[in-house]
Amino acid sequence: MLNNNCDTPDLVSYDDALSHLLETLKPVCAVEQLPLPDALGRVIAETLTADIDVPSMAVSSMDGYAVNSADLSEGTNYLPVSQRIPAGTAGEALQQGSVARIFTGAPIPPAADAVIIQENVELDGDSIRFEGLVSAGLNVRPAGNDIDKGRVILEAGSRLRPQDLGIAASVGIGEVAVYRPLKVGLFSTGDELATPGQPLKPGQIYESNRYVLRGFLESLGCEIVDLGLIGDTLDATCDAMLEASNKADLVITTGGVSVGEEDHVRIALEKLGDLSMWRLNIKPGKPLAFGLVNGSAFMGLPGNPVSVFATFSLFVVPAIARLQGRNWAKPRPVHLESGFDWPKPDNRREFLRARIEENESGQSVVNIYPSQDSGVLTSAVWADGFVEVPEGHTIAGGDMVDYISFASMIR
Ligand code: AMP
Ligand code: MG
Repeated sequence: MLNNNCDTPDLVSYDDALSHLLETLKPVCAVEQLPLPDALGRVIAETLTADIDVPSMAVSSMDGYAVNSADLSEGTNYLPVSQRIPAGTAGEALQQGSVARIFTGAPIPPAADAVIIQENVELDGDSIRFEGLVSAGLNVRPAGNDIDKGRVILEAGSRLRPQDLGIAASVGIGEVAVYRPLKVGLFSTGDELATPGQPLKPGQIYESNRYVLRGFLESLGCEIVDLGLIGDTLDATCDAMLEASNKADLVITTGGVSVGEEDHVRIALEKLGDLSMWRLNIKPGKPLAFGLVNGSAFMGLPGNPVSVFATFSLFVVPAIARLQGRNWAKPRPVHLESGFDWPKPDNRREFLRARIEENESGQSVVNIYPSQDSGVLTSAVWADGFVEVPEGHTIAGGDMVDYISFASMIR
């Protein structure tokens, strides 16, 4: 248990919170066998090795004429075309002193060792004329040019991208073992929230958090169980939490996680499950509840839209990766020159909404959105990443800062 309950003022650091999540959560999803085309976006549960060389034989990389380089002499060569080898056929051994008409992807015949491209020869009836020598291996892709037999082509725990399906296909694999999609239960809390498309009543705002979360969850390959908007009562919160935990592997909520008397999420979690971490030493996103409820993982995100965006990027993505059985590494920040000043130190680690821009001299610098208020979602729309400001630090224009792109975090 981390040092984080409500009667201690200590906040959990970013690094401790992350380690706690990664240590606590384990892959929860069963493994299934899928035909390769259906496996896009899934997490592969086995390490794949190549049973064959790719290509499996030496092939021509160009349209032209296969030769034995030893048959050529300096000056003009005049050689008969003794066979024709289109892709998908196997030629015969090259007769000495002849060439074979050959096409891209066709196997190099025995006794040939180079291909002269068609643009460099002159055709004369059934013979070619060619000036000078060529080196053995010219325009030839040897067997195993791409993949050597026995090589690992995909590691267990990677999420399958189009190019990964391609490499599996290229070694002849037609089916792969993948984890089933992670089920994520989701609800927003707040009596003030109205559904977009409906008229706003006095005192209401439109809810935006679930739209952000649903989008991210879909892009991470999760199956979403959306329980919608839940009112600010302990009973409704407990009911929704139980229902979500019955249906999903991970439950995510937004709002209601602070200490006001209208905040019921943390209390519901304490009542129904285990709260293992609560207040984090980061900005935005200080209140973030993590625990277990009814056998499912639970993450209670703050209500403010930018806090949701930040805590999702920083903590929910690695938690999801762990539960999905996916390998996850902390995104590596890029060091960039700051185009802004941040003169006031904060005792929390700050994640400023930032983007890379060009300064007057055409150099890349990182700038921040003018408002860093956690209620200003516009900042996350404007930005393409965060600048991470360590606890107690300030920044002056021209300093080198750590920039982490959203794209490197949410994947
Ligand atoms: P809370 O943590 O519930 O006190 O909410 C903090 C702030 O975030 C309040 O201003 C809420 O109105 C706002 N908020 C909470 N949930 C949402 C939501 N789903 N969409 C947009 N804003 C929200
Ligand atoms: Mg609320």
